Amino acid sequence: MSFFDEIRTEDYDEWGQIIAAATPEDVQAALDRPRRTVRDFAALVSPAAVPFLPRIAGEAERLTRIRFGQTVNMYIPLYLSNICSNRCRYCGFAADNHFKRRILTPAETEEECLAIRKLGYETILVVTGESGQSGMRYFREVIPLIKRHAAYLMMEVQPLDTQDYRELREMGVDCVCVYQETYHEPTYRENHLGGRKTDMRYRMETPERLGEAGMDKIGMGILLGLAEFRTDAVMLARHIAYMRRHYWRSRLSLSFPRLRPAEGGFCPPFPVSERELLQYVCAFRLFDPELEISISTRESASFRDMIVPLVINSISAGSCTQPGGYARPNEEVPQFVINDDRPTEEIAARLRNAGLDVIWHSSRIGQA
Ligand code: SF4
Repeated sequence: MSFFDEIRTEDYDEWGQIIAAATPEDVQAALDRPRRTVRDFAALVSPAAVPFLPRIAGEAERLTRIRFGQTVNMYIPLYLSNICSNRCRYCGFAADNHFKRRILTPAETEEECLAIRKLGYETILVVTGESGQSGMRYFREVIPLIKRHAAYLMMEVQPLDTQDYRELREMGVDCVCVYQETYHEPTYRENHLGGRKTDMRYRMETPERLGEAGMDKIGMGILLGLAEFRTDAVMLARHIAYMRRHYWRSRLSLSFPRLRPAEGGFCPPFPVSERELLQYVCAFRLFDPELEISISTRESASFRDMIVPLVINSISAGSCTQPGGYARPNEEVPQFVINDDRPTEEIAARLRNAGLDVIWHSSRIGQA
């Protein structure tokens, strides 16, 4: 039974009621336990845990340092294509938005890689929209080329079949991130109006296909702001526990994209505050201390400066979300608005000042 089958037998709203009914005693009990259950996680992410936030954050920091030492990894996204056949209501790349689309040629990709190398990065996250043009035929052309420039290669592209993931792994891909967006089925359907992404089962079962293919690291996450985030968080915690039970050879990473204004004027229906975001991320660290947690430039400089020394393992910086934008800065439509636009060196210096070792390739962070 896949995880998607498992959650379909349960009532999403029941978990919402469990979270709402959590008491300060439940939070205290969850804090006191050395290993936390999903019920404990529900208490830690609940409104009852808000007054405990300093203690939760302190425990999250302690667990992070024990497991990963004083390290933080720097990565950079490489946008190859903004062509997308899907119609996600919240995204600037959605097929409904009319602007000039492009997909980088191998020569343009090489140019981007050289520009990225000059910035010092060796961990690259390849990003594309979801379309037939950015499928396996295209990846066979560009991935070997990018791999020559990347000590650690990650991808955030459309969900693929198990055999495709095996092939990508053989090409040198180390990590694939595919976000679940929301576990609330009506919300999923309301926000994904067309294209292959309307197939919720195929998307939800992607981490399992990655596990079957033996991918080194699997990236998971929900889109914060789309549905009630506490209930979605519990479903994600359950999904992570499911992956640990069935695919324990792969590492897992967590990203927490929070909806920001996008082309098309979308406003998040369930906005998440920075304080709530901090609680959410720290609760995950307490639930699963092995999770590798990433933060992108969607978040503000002040929030990143605060949260990175506490719980973060990987941080992007100097990001450009327009294809071809590192080698040739241009005016094309970005996927989302970047909030922290400080240059890479400034962010690296800030991390060093906070006592962290900055790692430029992340083959095995914190394993030493
Ligand atoms: S979120 Fe992804 S799949 Fe949806 S429109 Fe944007 S690029 Fe396409």
